[in-house]
Amino acid sequence: MAAAITHDADLSGLSTFKLPARARELVELTAPDQLAALPASELPLLVLGGGSNTIFLDDWPGRILLNRLTGLQIQRLDEEHSLVHAGAGESWHRLVMNCIARGLHGLENLAMIPGSVGAAPIQNIGAYGVELSDVLDSVRAWDWQQSRTVRLSAADCRLSYRDSRFKSTDRDRFLILSISLRLSHCFAPNTGYDSLADALAKRHLERPNPRQLAATVMRLRRHRLPDPARLANAGSFFKNPVLPAETASALLDDFPRLPHWPMPDGQVKLAAGWMIERLGFRGYRIGDAGVYNNHALVLVNHGQATADQLLELIEHIQAAVGDEYDVELEPEPMLIGRKLMSQ
Ligand SMILES: Cc1cc2nc3c(=O)[nH]c(=O)nc-3n(C[C@H](O)[C@H](O)[C@H](O)COP(=O)(O)OP(=O)(O)OC[C@H]3O[C@@H](n4cnc5c(N)ncnc54)[C@H](O)[C@@H]3O)c2cc1C
Repeated sequence: MAAAITHDADLSGLSTFKLPARARELVELTAPDQLAALPASELPLLVLGGGSNTIFLDDWPGRILLNRLTGLQIQRLDEEHSLVHAGAGESWHRLVMNCIARGLHGLENLAMIPGSVGAAPIQNIGAYGVELSDVLDSVRAWDWQQSRTVRLSAADCRLSYRDSRFKSTDRDRFLILSISLRLSHCFAPNTGYDSLADALAKRHLERPNPRQLAATVMRLRRHRLPDPARLANAGSFFKNPVLPAETASALLDDFPRLPHWPMPDGQVKLAAGWMIERLGFRGYRIGDAGVYNNHALVLVNHGQATADQLLELIEHIQAAVGDEYDVELEPEPMLIGRKLMSQ
């Protein structure tokens, strides 16, 4: 069946931040072979999954490919591991719960991250001490440059903290069709992350089973993050800045309570939310664009926010954080349309 195409499509319901925007053309892709049958187009192209990390600041003058490719296959490798091959349009959270139900482990800490499977490698999704890079085996993608399907190993994807080649050097080059995860038949809970360890201890679950671990993560997330269905948002709005050890150490002399984490490459990751909160931004608003009351790292749309209001808010926070800590904050979501002054 040919892909469904909508002209002059409303995008506000396709992004969890819900700014008003339209696309010239929206194509709903449900099978990979529909790609070849698409009418040729010189229009700029953008792939969209669940829209939970994409914010439209302007109308999109081209074609949007709405990725709805499904499918799930499990391939047993040996006594200890299986490969899970999942279609890019599957829901990430449903995949996590499905794997737990089948006794396949490694994804428990990543429960309840919104969005699609295919977007997971784009920014190497992560939460509570686990990142996609811990379990990713490979990615199958359509390469627009070579006009063919390619298999990229996890190393080829160049995943790092909230980043990958898909978000940087090769932005817009690939359409991810499916991903393969190497999961374990043995459960070895990762409970090292402070707030997760505290929450487990409070519930006397120092040695949780997989369901208990995922349920605790979900409880923490419900408490900390607004549900996009009730209050439009895109999750954490700024990446935690990563600084060379010496620069971080000087900053920590001035702000000893600033939470920080050493990175494998010797650099230090600093808590952007703490920096923003300390400057009194919780609950701050410009029109309907605001900082979430319970968590300063999350920006929200109270209902009728405009792109101008959001941009003013972002730039105001970036400037205040720059003045106070001499640190540059970088937005985590993909901002589509006009550029920020800092870009
Ligand atoms: C409440 C909330 C909580 C969140 N918590 C977390 C968290 O804990 N950790 C975390 O890492 N993120 C988190 N996020 C961000 C977001 O959920 C993830 O980045 C998620 O992977 C985005 O999936 P999506 O399908 O919605 O992506 P989209 O927003 O649709 O797309 C994001 C980017 O990926 C590209 N893309 C999407 N699919 C494909 C594909 N198949 N091929 C090529 N490119 C593609 C898009 O072009 C876009 O550039 C959160 C967001 C919200 C709203």
